[in-house]
Amino acid sequence: MSSSTPRPSTSPTTGEPAGAVLQDIPLPPYVTAEDAQFAVRAVVVHAPRRWSGGTVCRNDASPHPCRLHRWGARVLALRGLRDADIAALVERGDPTAVAPRPHRPGA
Ligand SMILES: [Zn+2]
Repeated sequence: MSSSTPRPSTSPTTGEPAGAVLQDIPLPPYVTAEDAQFAVRAVVVHAPRRWSGGTVCRNDASPHPCRLHRWGARVLALRGLRDADIAALVERGDPTAVAPRPHRPGA
């Protein structure tokens, strides 16, 4: 994780062939606690970063939200988190934060 160094010469579109953006990473059929932990790390590590001309992923410089960020957000949504919960995790910036447990009526 030494990706915090700004690389002005890197194009925001590097590494993402046209069309690949549309192919999202498959979601797990059932979101386990481990999946949720990976998802938290994904959305935190792939947080938005202000850049000239727009907002990019601070990890891979793809236009934000990048594929991993979207994957993480969708996994956390499946886990029962609301957008505000996910935004709070990103805001906190702690990749080891524990995702809030979903509400499970009767459990
Ligand atoms: Zn990213």
